[in-house]
Amino acid sequence: MPAVLNVLRDLHRIHQQLTDLRERLERCPRLLKAAKKQVDDAHQLLTDQKAEIQTFHLAAKEQELVLEERAAKILDRQARLKECASNKEYQMLKDEIQSDESANSKLSDKILLAYEAIDQQQEQAQSLAEEVARVEQEQQKTAEQVAEREAALNTDLERIQAELQNAEAELPSEFVGEYRRISAAKGEDAFGQVSDNYCGTCSRQITAQMNNDVLTGKLTICGSCGAILYPKE
Ligand SMILES: [Zn+2]
Repeated sequence: MPAVLNVLRDLHRIHQQLTDLRERLERCPRLLKAAKKQVDDAHQLLTDQKAEIQTFHLAAKEQELVLEERAAKILDRQARLKECASNKEYQMLKDEIQSDESANSKLSDKILLAYEAIDQQQEQAQSLAEEVARVEQEQQKTAEQVAEREAALNTDLERIQAELQNAEAELPSEFVGEYRRISAAKGEDAFGQVSDNYCGTCSRQITAQMNNDVLTGKLTICGSCGAILYPKE
């Protein structure tokens, strides 16, 4: 078998490895971004929950003010009961006091329920804060793993790039120009492994003459996809 065929096979494998390594490197920032989004989302949920608690708290405080004002009025009316000039006025004040007492009784129940709801919301906020801590830890772990993976992939990349240079140096001169042009444009698809007269890259059939050229190590380019062809082992 002509030596050039081994070089072409090596170059194809090396380009495939480079593509694979680059794809894996590209996934690294995506993993970091996903971890950051988890943290951001968890923070947002906690912030929203705290804002809601604040709103509920203010509403409860307002209702407490209403309660206090009404209680003060009741006391005031109770004082005036003693100075009443007529039975009619006395009865009117009594009725007003009763009506306010009834309203305040309902309102204090309502305030109690509001504070119970706030307690529950605070428990939920606590869980959300724990979730924030969990995803932040997760993010930290992801960042460490990604840094390790990136370093390993970059080491592999350097090694494979050195292999590429060595393999390229072995390429016969008549292949160099086409190889440079096609590999720059197509990366790993710059090569097609021929098996049973078919190009492995585009799956189209090649002519018997082309197949013969491929087997004898002549520079042969797939008419369909433009890949440099070499035979399967
Ligand atoms: Zn092809």
